[in-house]
Formats: sequence, structure tokens, C-alpha cells
Amino acid sequence: MNVDRSAAAFERAKTVTPGGVNSPVRAFLAVGGTPRFIKSARGAYLTDLDGNEYVDLVCSWGPMLLGHAHPEVLAAVAEAAQHGTSFGAPTQAEVDLAAAIIDRTPIDQVRLVNSGTEATLSAIRLARGFTGRDKIIKFAGCYHGHVDSLLASAGSGVATLGIPGTPGVTAGTTADTIVVAYNDRAAVRQAFATYGDQIACLITEGAPGNMGVIEPGAEDGIGFNRFLSDLCHEHGALFISDEVMTGFRVSKSGQYGLDGVGGDLMTFGKVMGGGFPAAAFGGRADIMAHLAPVGSVYQAGTLSGNPVATAAGLATLRLATADVYETVDKTSEQLRAEVHAALEQAGVPHVISHSGNLFSVFFVAPGVTAVPDYTAAQAQQAQAYTAFFHSMLEDGVYLPPSAFEGWFLSAAHDSTALDRIVAALPRAAQAAARA
Ligand code: PMP
Repeated sequence: MNVDRSAAAFERAKTVTPGGVNSPVRAFLAVGGTPRFIKSARGAYLTDLDGNEYVDLVCSWGPMLLGHAHPEVLAAVAEAAQHGTSFGAPTQAEVDLAAAIIDRTPIDQVRLVNSGTEATLSAIRLARGFTGRDKIIKFAGCYHGHVDSLLASAGSGVATLGIPGTPGVTAGTTADTIVVAYNDRAAVRQAFATYGDQIACLITEGAPGNMGVIEPGAEDGIGFNRFLSDLCHEHGALFISDEVMTGFRVSKSGQYGLDGVGGDLMTFGKVMGGGFPAAAFGGRADIMAHLAPVGSVYQAGTLSGNPVATAAGLATLRLATADVYETVDKTSEQLRAEVHAALEQAGVPHVISHSGNLFSVFFVAPGVTAVPDYTAAQAQQAQAYTAFFHSMLEDGVYLPPSAFEGWFLSAAHDSTALDRIVAALPRAAQAAARA
């Protein structure tokens, strides 16, 4: 596979931006090799600068639920742009997008922002403002954007690069962050027993997808999110469900559609922006009433509710009908079965875990049958994933360039795309077996 143009672009990029990328995981640091510079994308496929085509299993890390360059989304974007690209004043369309989000979720009110990071940092601030408490609980390996107080034991690129803590985040900033292991009910109970009346909120991903996908475990018929929500309420703390990744992807609403547990506050992004910078946080009306200009918790944004992003998001949610979720769920199930069969055949120990259609493949040590938390995720056989990744890439399948990420599908992944992935699996599985 010729990647000369991507290699040249990467060299140039490194002279003008650190590591040549605008978001760390794109740099292929964990897997090595040349990051592909993308020229175009359509449906389920990416094309790089050298003209190589890949079935895309990253989907821009989640947003492209309908596939790339969906004609109706593009038309909505073009139409919106004709009327001006930013006003700094309210529009009807942002109210429509807010209403569309509220319609699919249990929240009463929503505020639009530009990124998932902004959504979670605003939700945390609001939770603190509302409760008058300082401490927050997060889970090791969960990623909620690069919010200072949430970078403690974070997933995504922080996990991929093995960064223990981030310089620039002061000890004071994280002093109020309590980190516990995911799925560890005793640890969460203990944190509340020790700090209960100081805890403003607990934030969790709807289902973690940034340390690989981890399933919220059930105990005595009670799901982990239900347990967390109940415990928060016993202690007067808010439960924040971060559905930036899972929202409008794993079901019409998100993880809420799978387990019925909503947050007092919830955060959204990715799919609801249709591939543009748009995100949101929302929740109970009495909590949202504490937000400026009604309340005193300040939050704002020059480009919030941007008309072009809003048009893309509205079109995406309008087109994300029950059929879309049925298709993506089914494709995910088929692909999981095919990956399992190929790895089994090659004798590669693995755990495939999923939340709805979002899944990831852990290349585990022999005998390991479950990956319930970050410690287990960190025990992956990284070299096996690297070998698997490069074999797939060579055969035209673009997987996440990190073992700590989910695999994303779209409604555009049809049987042709699936066949291409399936055809690449045996060689990749053998490569993983040899690694
Ligand atoms: N929360 C979750 C669960 C995420 O997966 C992400 C991004 N991967 C974020 C927040 C941050 O979103 P953004 O990258 O748009 O700032």
C-alpha cells in the first residue's frame, strides 16, 4: 500500500502542529506507522491522499451514524450556510434541535455548546452550583473530554498514550475529584460513605467507550447505572450521565434507551452534531434554572447553537429513524460474530464487549473472560491489537488506532462493506496470533 502522500503530509504537519495532529489519538502513536491523511469520505468509506480506500470503523469517533457525506445532511448544511453562518443571536433552528434532543431523552431542558468537553465541564459546574458542594466522583478509564478536573485517570488518548497525569492540571484542580474503579459498587459506596455530604455529583459515561467498551454490570437484577443513580440521590448528589458517545448512537436516545436510567444532568455530542462541532448538556428543569441568564451559574459561547452545525444535527436526528438503529444493531451483531469466529479460529484469546451497537475487542491474556474495568483494560495484549490493526489497515479497513477505543459502525455499512471487513479478518487474526 502506497502511503507516500500521507507520509509527506505528516512530516509537514509535524512542523506546524505538535505531533502533526489536532487530537492525539490520530497520530497512530500507540500502533506506529503513518497516520492516513484523509482526502474524502462517503458512506462507509474513507479515501486517503494516496487514493487508498478503507471501510471506516471509526466514523469520526462516533458522529457519522448515517455514514459520511449523507446527501440530505449535506443539503441541509448548504441550505443553512446560504442564510449566513453565525449570528450571535437566537434562531428557530436551535430551538428545534433542543426540542429534538428533549424528545428523545428524559431531560426537560437543554443548552447547546460546541464540544463534548464544554458539555461536561458546564454540567459539572452546574452540579456544583446547584448543590453548593465541591467534590465529584468519576471512574478510572472514563473520558469526559479534556476538562481539567476530569483528566484524572482518564480514558481515550490519555489511556492510549499511558499518560499518568497531565502537567498543567494543578493538584488543587483535581483535589476534589474522587476516582473509583468502574463496576466496583463497594468502592462507590465507600466514597459516598466517606464524603457523602460533600459530593456534588457522580459523572459516568452512559456505557464506557473510552477504555474500550465496558459493559455496565448487573447485580441482583440491578444495573450499574441504576445503582449509581440511586446512591447519588440517597446522598443528595446529582447523577450525570455523559452520553456524548452513546447518545443517539446505541439507541434512538442512547444508553438511556437501553437501561432506562437517565441523568439528573446529561451530556450529548457527536451524533447530534451530524459531523459538525455541536454538543449539549441538559437535565431537570429545576437544575437548569440555575444556569445564566435565569440563574447565576455562568456559561456561554460565541458559536453555541451555530446555524450550520444545528442544521447538520437536526437533519441527522430526523434521518436517524428506527430503521437506522435496527440496521446498525444488526451489522454490529454480525461483525462481532465474525470477529469472534476469526479470532477463535486463529486461537487468539479475546473478549468482545458491547453496549448496543458500540463494541470493542480486547486482546486479553489466555484465560481472561471479562473486562469489567480500567485495570482489566490496561492488561490487554497491546502488541496483538497492533498487529491486527495493521493487517486490517493494509487490507483496507480503518480501525481505531488504539486498543482503548470502541469500533463505530454506520447505517451506510452495507453487506459490501461488511464483506470487505470479513474478508480481511482471517489474516489479521493470524497476525494477532503471531504477535
Ligand atoms: N465525553 C465522552 C463520553 C466522550 O467520548 C468524549 C469524546 N470522545 C467527550 C466527552 C469529549 O467530547 P469532545 O471531544 O467533543 O470534546
